[in-house]
Parts: sequence; C-alpha cells; structure tokens
Amino acid sequence: MPSTIDQLKALLGSNHVLTGEDANRAPAGIVKPGEQRHEQVIVRPSSTEEVSEVLKICHAAGQSVVPQGGMTGLVNGAEIIDDEIALSLERMNVIEEIDTINATMTVQAGVVLQVIQEQAEQSGLFFPMDLGARGSATIGGNVSTNAGGNRVIRYGMTRALVLGLEVVLADGTVVSSLGKVIKDNSGYDLKQLFIGAEGTLGIVTRVVLKLSPLPTTQGMAFVAFEGFREMADFLTYAKQALAGNLSAFEVLWRDYYRFLTGDDMVHRQWLDYDFPYYALVESTGSHADTDHDQFVDTLAVALDKKLICDAVITRSQGERNALWAMRDDVQSLVKLWPLTGYDISLSIDKMENCIEELEQALRQHWSESICMALGHLGDGNLHIVATLQSEESAERDAVDRIVYNLIKKYGGSISAEHGIGLQKKPYLSCCRSGSEVALMKTIRLALDPKGILNPGKLF
Ligand SMILES: Cc1cc2nc3c(=O)[nH]c(=O)nc-3n(C[C@H](O)[C@H](O)[C@H](O)COP(=O)(O)OP(=O)(O)OC[C@H]3O[C@@H](n4cnc5c(N)ncnc54)[C@H](O)[C@@H]3O)c2cc1C
Repeated sequence: MPSTIDQLKALLGSNHVLTGEDANRAPAGIVKPGEQRHEQVIVRPSSTEEVSEVLKICHAAGQSVVPQGGMTGLVNGAEIIDDEIALSLERMNVIEEIDTINATMTVQAGVVLQVIQEQAEQSGLFFPMDLGARGSATIGGNVSTNAGGNRVIRYGMTRALVLGLEVVLADGTVVSSLGKVIKDNSGYDLKQLFIGAEGTLGIVTRVVLKLSPLPTTQGMAFVAFEGFREMADFLTYAKQALAGNLSAFEVLWRDYYRFLTGDDMVHRQWLDYDFPYYALVESTGSHADTDHDQFVDTLAVALDKKLICDAVITRSQGERNALWAMRDDVQSLVKLWPLTGYDISLSIDKMENCIEELEQALRQHWSESICMALGHLGDGNLHIVATLQSEESAERDAVDRIVYNLIKKYGGSISAEHGIGLQKKPYLSCCRSGSEVALMKTIRLALDPKGILNPGKLF
C-alpha cells in the first residue's frame, strides 16, 4: 500500500506536494523579528475535484489537514502542528465570472482579495471588503474567518457579502451551493455554517460574492475629539447626516496616533497631539454635485455643536491614500517588540471604561507598560496593543488573562474579526457558554467525525 504522501504525489504530481526545504515558507502577515514558519508537507490542488480527491485520501488514512490561504491570519489558525498536512489553495486563483446584471463575482478560494477588488472596479462594480492584508489574504481565508475590516459599518462582514459557497467536506464530499440570489429560505442556510468556521468544518473551494455599485465620490477627514462621549455622539450624528454614505469610522487613541506619526515613522502628522481621540472618517457616494458639500457641512455642524474639536479634510487621492496607509500600518508595531495584540468587541457605551480599567491593570502589572487602542468604532471593534517586558510565554499569558477577564466582565467578545485559531482557544469560555461550545462540537462531529480538518483550532 503506497504511503499517503505517495498517493498525493500520484494524484497531484510531485511538484504540487512540497516537502522538506521546499515547504519552508516565510509568513505573509505581520512578520515578527526572526520569525520563520516550517511546514512539513504542503499539497497544492488546482480544482475542487482535486481538493475532494486529496481529502478522500487523507480521510481514509486519518491524516489531518490544515487549509491555508494567504497566511495573514493573526491567531495562528493556519499553523501546522506535528505531522499535519497543509492544503494550500494558492493554485485555485481564477475569477470564473463577473455577472454585471446580478452584480456577482464567482471566484475560486485562492484569489487574493485585492485582485477581487480591482476586477470588480474594472467592471464598474465594487467589492467593499477591505483590510490591511488585502495584497496577500485570499477570499477563502476571508470567508473562513468571516473577515471584517474597514467598511463593515456600511456593508457588513464577509457573511453579508457571500451569496453562494462551495465546500469540500472532510470525507471528500463536494457541497456546491453556488446560488446568486439574495433571498433563499429553502431550509438551512448552509453556507453560513462554513463562514467563520476557520477551516474546521470544510474546505472552501469557490465563492459567489455580492458586489455593490461603485461609489464615484469619496470624502475623507481626520478628526479630533475632546472626549470619548463626543466621539460616540459624532458617530451617531454622522450616520444620520451622511444619510447612509458613511463608509469608515476608524478611531485612534492619542498614544497610537503619536506612535504612528513619531520621528522615525513615514506618516504625516495630520493634527497636533492635543486631543485624546482621533478618527479617520470616510464618506462615499454617487452624487458628484452634492456629496462633497454634504460631507463638509456634516463636519461644520459637528464643529459648531462641539462634537469635534478639529478636522483636516483631504484634498486629493494622494492624501486619501496617505491617510489610509497610516491607519493600515500595523506592521510598524513590531518596532515595539515584544508586544501582544487583541481584537475585541465591546458595546460602544462600555469601551471607554473598559480601556481605562485595562490601562490601570496593565500598569499595576508592569509600570512601564504601553497600551494603545485603535479600531473600527462603528462596529464596536477595537484592537488593543500592549508592550511586554519579555518574550516569555508566562508574561504574555498574564496579559491575556487581564484582557480577557475584563472582556468577560464587560460582556464583550474576545474575537471581533480575526477568529480564535490556536491563540485564543484557552479563553473561548470568556464569551461563549458551555452549551454554545457543546453545540459547536456537535456540529463539528457531525461533519468531520474523524476530526481531520484543522484539528486543535477553535476548541
Ligand atoms: C496587516 C494586517 C491587517 C489585517 N486587518 C484585518 C482586518 O481589518 N479585519 C480582519 O478581519 N482581519 C484582518 N487581518 C487578518 C487576516 O488578514 C484575515 O483574517 C484574513 O481573512 C485571512 O485570510 P488568509 O487568506 O490570509 O487566511 P489564512 O491566514 O491562510 O487562514 C485563516 C484561517 O482560515 C482557514 N482557511 C484559509 N483558507 C481556507 C479555505 N479555503 N477553506 C477553509 N479554511 C480556510 C485557515 O485554516 C485558518 O484557520 C489583518 C492581517 C494583517 C496581516
């Protein structure tokens, strides 16, 4: 009987079953000093049929498989443990159809997010999902993490952007639900099971995406606030005043803004450092004659009402790109290494107290701790960064406990958009009840009784 690897080589060809040195890959996401990922075996199927055959072989052998997209996930969800095989979707990178009548795009799972955005735009349409890792992250990874990003406030998370999905189950069964319709109440909405499942229920092979009309106007400003309450009130006001055009509301606590615009950084200082909170505010629309005035009026009225203290309105595409580049520049945080990061959800009314309490707790733990916050305020999603005294895992665990216990206390979620992976697994019970986790396990057992798909992740 040939070994599993020999069977996979016979199926895909030796050059698509990488082993040894060929399977050593640099990570694609935020690269930590000295980081190197070592893979044992990577298989690279090029079609749904090949994914199905790979899984049939692995299922029969009880061989565990870890699906991999762009490897930009931030919770070690695509990491190999022991003798697992990595299944990379990189060769499934074809855009199969752009349907301008139904405003849909059908793609294979390995297509990179930025390619989807660009192709939609070339067809006069818009794929609104956007995140800093757009140049490497794949749509299969986006679907499997239910990615959020910068425009959730207007268009929703990945879940809201997927109309149809094709997945291959652990035993190789292909479940193809590639419908293009928005309304379909004919039984369970099966695709939703796999969205955000982090590769534990099936391998996503093809996706039908919902596209939107391409906005033709874009207004952007960098705004300062005197207090958290004013910032939250401005958000409420802007949603109403911009009449559905508000497309991003990205907040930066002062320390983070100061870090991003410090002496050794490339980003321009848009406003001085006098204020505790700042936000990148974006409005997109399709009325060239009125949108700009509407955006400026919204800011002017907010200034009059003292909801905002100061604002710079961008005047060119170059300035808009520069402002987004500053917001997206999380890679620079490695300058503060060692550090740890969090992706949490909280209701907006609880954020200010929770972050204050966290800062105090961290300073008690270590007086020199730097704690900075940023995030997608409109979605109740903050990213928190805390420096560590050392790389010791005990140090990281201590900070994790402080953060997640506070999230539990404030009724938030330990993962707003990045997933659980390996990293947050010990803390799942901070925001999910025993019965919820038990039901998740029942679903997993029903779909993958041998537990070969991404085992050890999530729970
Ligand atoms: C600079 C930077 C900024 C980021 N900003 C954001 C942000 O704003 N919002 C946000 O949500 N995330 C953000 N992320 C995180 C990351 O980009 C997303 O989680 C993204 O969706 C991961 O896609 P990927 O293709 O890299 O997936 P991977 O990292 O390869 O995999 C992620 C998970 O999905 C599984 N998986 C991958 N492909 C498949 C498939 N085809 N079928 C089944 N399972 C699969 C993997 O096993 C793993 O569990 C950011 C990351 C970086 C580095």
